[in-house]
Amino acid sequence: MGSSSDLVISVKPHSLSIMDDGRLVFSFDRAGRLYTAYREGRTFVRGLSGTVVEKWHERGWAPKQVRVLTEEEKRAFLTQLWSDVRAIIAAFRRGGARVQFFGEGASASDLDRWLERLLAWDAQAYARDEERFLSVYKPISILPPDQYLALVLQVTEGCHWNKCTFCDFYRDRRFRIKTDEEVRRHIAAVKEFLGDSITLRRSLFLADANALIIPQERLLRILEIIHESFVFDERRVAGAFEGIYSFLDAYSGMRWTTEDFAALRERRVKRLYLGVESGHDELLRFVNKPGTAREALEVVSRIKAAGLAVGVIILIGLGGEAFFDPHVRETIALLNEMPLGREDLIYLSPLYIHPGSDYEEKARAFHIRALAPHELKRQIHLIREGLRFASSVERPRISIYDVREFVY
Ligand code: SF4
Repeated sequence: MGSSSDLVISVKPHSLSIMDDGRLVFSFDRAGRLYTAYREGRTFVRGLSGTVVEKWHERGWAPKQVRVLTEEEKRAFLTQLWSDVRAIIAAFRRGGARVQFFGEGASASDLDRWLERLLAWDAQAYARDEERFLSVYKPISILPPDQYLALVLQVTEGCHWNKCTFCDFYRDRRFRIKTDEEVRRHIAAVKEFLGDSITLRRSLFLADANALIIPQERLLRILEIIHESFVFDERRVAGAFEGIYSFLDAYSGMRWTTEDFAALRERRVKRLYLGVESGHDELLRFVNKPGTAREALEVVSRIKAAGLAVGVIILIGLGGEAFFDPHVRETIALLNEMPLGREDLIYLSPLYIHPGSDYEEKARAFHIRALAPHELKRQIHLIREGLRFASSVERPRISIYDVREFVY
């Protein structure tokens, strides 16, 4: 750690950060729970589940490195964090740190209470927090990148299909829809677990894999329960959420009409994320993904006609070398047909093949070679280059979605 005069404590209404001359940055929620740390060129993200992901860049052109800390490494990391926090707070109390307040509601007395809470988070407290998380949630397997800080509500568990060869996100659980009563209890448990640290989260995400598999009438009832339980406001009013989000797949999305989607918009649903994966139907069949490119286009068109935004997810490297050309060509053609605007997102997500997965076995049986990192980059480049939008102002945001970085 640098000299105490380099220390800055930054207090915002929903988070507190400690910075030590750019060498170290820790950020905490209102409960005093760490959510990100930066130390010596490495970023650590702690999810509510207790998992800690470490990210860093090697020198040169190597792709970003991402890994999950082992239990032992995590304990050492949290113990070190606690001892750093104690030293920093002691320095602050000797007058050795500058304090910055941002936004309404951040005050000196608030800061004192907040620092006291930070001191309570030793490695044991983090371990107890992990246990509490598991009493509230089944593992949150994946979210879209812009929703990593959402408040997740598991209104369903698992995936109704669960058979795409490349996906093992929900293989550990049977699909089921929660009853209204279970949803109420889940919401109460989530609120109790987070307390006022809930204010860090601005959006609600309906999990798991596809909440829109819930029959419409039942889903509208669940949304009603959500509206009875949470305040919604576009502005950053304390404790208010700006909108509701969820995954969707093309196959089940076909059961929803434009009017059905509009009923979701009226209930503050803002964006739906569609795992399109590829525009090439043969490849979709090869990986056992339900639905077709035409259905994906139809579903996106209905969602957009209803006034909702969409996030389209494309798997980069799917089908390896054998499908490279048609995957690029048909995906570009499909995306160019979609009525996407600036509130929409296109996520290009490199495929990570899990050892022993159905995908790996089938690819081996068909002698399909996986793409090397430079070929994945080339595929991303080709797809980006092929996209045409009506105007540069109205174009959707296109970004890389590296699922290894996900932690909740
Ligand atoms: S990709 Fe989507 S539809 Fe396929 S198994 Fe995974 S969660 Fe289910």
